Amino acid sequence: MSYNRESVSDGEALSQLVDQIVHSLEMRHVFGITSMELFLTDSCNMDCSYCFERCRNTSRLMPLEMGKGAIAWFLSQRPVPIRRDILFFGGEPMLRSDDMFAMAEFARAAQPSPDRLGISVTTNGTILPDSAIDRFLETEMSVLISIDPGKKAHNEHRRFRNGKPTYDIVWRSLGKLARSGVRSSVRPTLYPGLLGDLEDFVCACVDIGATEIVLGPVYGVPWDSESLERLEEALTAVGRIYYKWLKEGRRIRIPTFDRYVAPSDGPRRGCSAGRSLVAIAPEGDLFGCAKCLTANGGKGIHCLGSISSWAIDQEQKQLLANCGTKQLEKCKSCTISHFCSGSCPAANHDSVGTSQEPPLAHCQIQHIFYRIAQSLF
Ligand code: SF4
Ligand code: SF4
Repeated sequence: MSYNRESVSDGEALSQLVDQIVHSLEMRHVFGITSMELFLTDSCNMDCSYCFERCRNTSRLMPLEMGKGAIAWFLSQRPVPIRRDILFFGGEPMLRSDDMFAMAEFARAAQPSPDRLGISVTTNGTILPDSAIDRFLETEMSVLISIDPGKKAHNEHRRFRNGKPTYDIVWRSLGKLARSGVRSSVRPTLYPGLLGDLEDFVCACVDIGATEIVLGPVYGVPWDSESLERLEEALTAVGRIYYKWLKEGRRIRIPTFDRYVAPSDGPRRGCSAGRSLVAIAPEGDLFGCAKCLTANGGKGIHCLGSISSWAIDQEQKQLLANCGTKQLEKCKSCTISHFCSGSCPAANHDSVGTSQEPPLAHCQIQHIFYRIAQSLF
């Protein structure tokens, strides 16, 4: 990336430049489907208060052969030499760990290079037998753990079905994964009034061995002015320390801030759903992403078709693409539309009832990111 160019050799600089060009093209979705999310199950052993799966009471399971078939299709698409990603999602995918690892082994046998094929799972971090560690290492999978910023914030929302708190278990899992050499990331949800000390939390995650922090503000709830102020302070502090780490050449990523420190990426052209990303539901329906699949009380929005034919419904795909800043009416008069990465059709739908209009909180938080980018990067 551009921030570290002074300290690398010519060969590395060239390789970074090629990566930047490819990444920039990916942002414009020119390579077709490069990421696929496999939704292995609706079931979960937790009952998080803000979970999109809460209103669903079904218990669907994706059959192993369906998962392998989807992976085979995915890997046969447009054999351009760029990185692809397979992501296991749920519910709690570790409830299906045997099938998940069988699918991962199938994919890894087809593409042994982790640089060419990323395989990862998003998990609540409460189910981690020792045998899983070996299989993560064997398949070169990475793990994204959902954990909120600090014990209080986490235990407020993220509890087992019997009401017991989960923070200590999840934190132990993160340490165990990182110490074992499994590439581990965390995804803290940022909720009004429950930001804890975000900067300390991010530093603690990095100290324990997490290599990526995916900050996820919740857009579907109202943020009062005090919570927004607190969010801005917290994100500014994290942005400042992230910039310092980057200048020191540390290999830590906070993707939320990356397009400010690598401006050659340019603005993302709307969301990836349906253009470079698809999600497969347990019964084989195709959606733009896992969040589209679980939106609308679990019924999903803008279903793109089914893996029985893999034909994509172009009208639904266009509706997803129409949520970019160039298309949405609300964005036409916005002062930061040149900067904003656009809205999330799934969050839009679940907040305001239509995928075609961003909720107020989304725009308020984009303005915060804009001010941070102006002041720090
Ligand atoms: S901040 Fe809101 S209105 Fe402005 S460009 Fe982004 S989504 Fe559109
Ligand atoms: S922006 Fe929303 S709809 Fe688009 S890929 Fe991301 S989560 Fe899915």
